[in-house]
Amino acid sequence: MVVELISVGTEILLGNIVNTNAAYLAERLAGLGMSVYFQETVGDNPERLYEVLKQAKDRSDVVILSGGLGPTQDDLTKETAAKVCEKGMHEDQKAKEYLIRYFKKTQRTISEISENNWKQAVVPDDSIVLYNDNGTAPGIIIEADDGTKVILLPGPPHELIPMFEQQVAPYLCGIEQGVLYSKVVKIDSIGESAVEMAILDLINEQSNPTVAPYAKPGEVHLRVTAKAKDEEEGKQLVMPVVEELKNRFGRHVFTIEEHVTMEEALVDLMMKHHLTFATAESCTGGLLAGRLVNVPGVSNCFNEGFITYANEAKMKYLGVSADTLKQFGAVSEECAREMSEGLAKVTGAKVTIATTGLAGPGGGTEEKKPGLVYISCTVNGKTTVQKYQLNGNREKVRYTAVVRALTLMRHSIINVYE
Ligand code: ATP
Repeated sequence: MVVELISVGTEILLGNIVNTNAAYLAERLAGLGMSVYFQETVGDNPERLYEVLKQAKDRSDVVILSGGLGPTQDDLTKETAAKVCEKGMHEDQKAKEYLIRYFKKTQRTISEISENNWKQAVVPDDSIVLYNDNGTAPGIIIEADDGTKVILLPGPPHELIPMFEQQVAPYLCGIEQGVLYSKVVKIDSIGESAVEMAILDLINEQSNPTVAPYAKPGEVHLRVTAKAKDEEEGKQLVMPVVEELKNRFGRHVFTIEEHVTMEEALVDLMMKHHLTFATAESCTGGLLAGRLVNVPGVSNCFNEGFITYANEAKMKYLGVSADTLKQFGAVSEECAREMSEGLAKVTGAKVTIATTGLAGPGGGTEEKKPGLVYISCTVNGKTTVQKYQLNGNREKVRYTAVVRALTLMRHSIINVYE
């Protein structure tokens, strides 16, 4: 099934907003085993939208549009789509009820619903209406006479994502007949090409299930997807391949759950072993603690973290020795080690992690170039220090250092506890 994505909105064309909807939809559709062959962005201009949509409808099985369903004059996606599909329009009673319900939910009165808002309850004839719990614009599926499905979704991601997950994905799986069952194997600290080399045989042999790699910053995801008559059969096809991937990548696999992030997998591991952790950050300046605090329930294992940026702070809070700083410098294996070991003494946490490095762009020397980062993890008195020479600008070096720190923590805990 060939799918085409059209993002509608002048602000996307001008670069005022980043097109995260297209990235999200493309990734989800690939996960469902559907092929996205084309993506376009078009401004709020009905003639150009007509042209793009007409072309898409002629060459793709499913066209998904996002944006332009709002109440204002420039929101013309619905009218244009109805025109391309040669459908009339009518008012949908249930869409009106949803509109009223949404206004009440957001503490507004019915009299505040403007003429423009009521326009949102007008839908193309014979369409499937996707009622919206998170906004005023319903989504719409038009099944055109030539068999093409034209799907209209609201622009705001907090409306589009639940609508796609709850209504569009099941619809698409339904027209594919049978189910698409998929699992994602998430791998840390191995580059995409190395991962691909390690599974070349699986990729070359694949038909059902398929294995598709996606690189994320600091991680690689392998999505295993099977087409099957029902979920049980899908599971039977997919799980042996997932097991094979787990064998090949061992502890580098941090989860096979769709929504589990690297930091969640780490916090889960610490909770499982009743461990507490503390952070001492120099070059990452709080990013590491910030990422771990993303995880709900982290308060069960996190009490405190330090940003020890200056040498004085490293000495004052962590007990790093002046001699070490003088002899080896703050960006050194010795300093990193003293940071995480000192942190363990000061906090009593079972797991302590410390980062120190040169985020750049300036400040490097012949021996220590920007991007040089040391990360030290102490678990129950056992310390591992890793040295990295990271690429990219300041932001990328700091981000990657956080990913490496999360990975080092997880691997160090596994070494001691599993
Ligand atoms: P509304 O009912 O809120 O008016 P809409 O369907 O008309 O929704 P737009 O007006 O096109 O959508 O966009 C509303 C907002 O949604 C934008 O200002 C932007 O914040 C977000 N948005 C729109 N399209 C995208 C996109 N492709 N990627 C990320 N965010 C988007």
